[in-house]
Formats: sequence, structure tokens, C-alpha cells
Amino acid sequence: MRIAVLALQGAFIEHERMLRQLGAEVFEVRQLRHWQQPKDGLVIPGGESTTMMRLLHDLRLFDPIRQAILGGLPTFGTCAGLILLDRQHLGTMDILARRNAYGRQLGSFHTVSAVQGIDSAIPMTFIRAPYIEEAGPAVQVLAEVGGRIVAAREGRQLVTAFHPELDGNPAVHRLFLDSV
Ligand code: GLN
Repeated sequence: MRIAVLALQGAFIEHERMLRQLGAEVFEVRQLRHWQQPKDGLVIPGGESTTMMRLLHDLRLFDPIRQAILGGLPTFGTCAGLILLDRQHLGTMDILARRNAYGRQLGSFHTVSAVQGIDSAIPMTFIRAPYIEEAGPAVQVLAEVGGRIVAAREGRQLVTAFHPELDGNPAVHRLFLDSV
């Protein structure tokens, strides 16, 4: 199993570590030629969605990545990665993300909560995180915290508003790899 990790910016190293720990082969995508390698899945990490959007366009990665996801490539987006998949960005998922949704006081916080499909509650670290404020009928809500949707899946796309790559708990990555 070979997973492409978008490595333009942000927290991609932690995803790579987690994926390797679970036995996946990983490669970084920084340029179009990296993207053109064979792959079984894609991870879009946290970081700064505005910067990542600009780089995707500048590097001519936006359309090829969008087409691959629409074509069924299993994709996992965390935090800024969730934002990138929403209606206003790559538009591959029928969700609307609200950016920096928790205000300044709650910009970053940690909790432990349940995710559908995972047996026990998992640690969740939110860093200037979004939540999903609208989800279309094809979207399956996997987790809510404080009444807000923080994890969801639609077809082969999985998103979390939190950062499962930072907590040493591989359950969400395993859930993703199970879909690959
Ligand atoms: N606040 C960032 C954004 O709006 C996301 C933060 C993150 O990925 N940790 O893009």
C-alpha cells in the first residue's frame, strides 16, 4: 500500500510516521512529478489552508489532485486538509468548513471523544481548527464535539477537524487505511 502525503506545508511528517508505523509505504508530494507516481491513497495534512491552496494552484497540482479524488482515490484530510476538501476549495466533499471556528480562547484544545467505527474514545487535539457547519446527504458524520461535527466521511474521503497524527493513537489512520 503506497500513500501520497501532500508535503507543501504543515504537519506532514507526523502523518508519515503514523502511516509507516501501520505498515504503509509513504511518499511526499511537493511537485507535479511526485504526484504522478502510482498511489493507493492521499493524505492532506493540517497547516494553513490559504497557503496550501495557493501552492496547489502555483504548482499545477489542484486539478490533477481534484480529479483523482473525484475518481475515487481514498483521501484523508486533517484540519486544513478538511478545509481543502470542502465545497469552497477542492470541492470533492459536500461539506462546508468553518475556519478557525472556536475563537481565540478556544483556538487550541484537547479532548477525548468517540468516533464512529473506532471501539474506544480517542484523544483529539484541535489547533485553530475548523468544524463542519454544513454536510450534504451523502456525508456520514463520525464524530461531534460540543454539538459540532469534527469527523466525517463521504465515499472514500475521510476528514477530521482534529490532528490524530499528533496523539500517538493510530486508530483514525487505521480507519483510513482500511478504506484503501
Ligand atoms: N487554521 C488553519 C486554516 O484555517 C487550520 C489549522 C490547522 O490545520 N491546524 O487553514
